[in-house]
Amino acid sequence: MQNRKVKFKSMARQEQDKKKRKNCSLCADKVTSIDYKDAAKLKRYLTEAGKIIPRRITGNCAEHQRMIAKAIKRAREAAIIDYVFD
Ligand SMILES: [Zn+2]
Repeated sequence: MQNRKVKFKSMARQEQDKKKRKNCSLCADKVTSIDYKDAAKLKRYLTEAGKIIPRRITGNCAEHQRMIAKAIKRAREAAIIDYVFD
């Protein structure tokens, strides 16, 4: 019983590792800076509720995720995008 459980777990792990790949869309486009005034671009990284989509879902690298987060926060402050969407 115990053995079977372990086997299943390791298989699931392998599947996950296969799927996991660096696919930062901003690295692919060689983006070096993100304009906080570009609301259309920033909205791609927001959920319907206006929350920033985590890196593990978008697949962005840490560097670009940080840029996005900063740009979004700046845009919110400048009232370019809303803090919360209805
Ligand atoms: Zn990147």
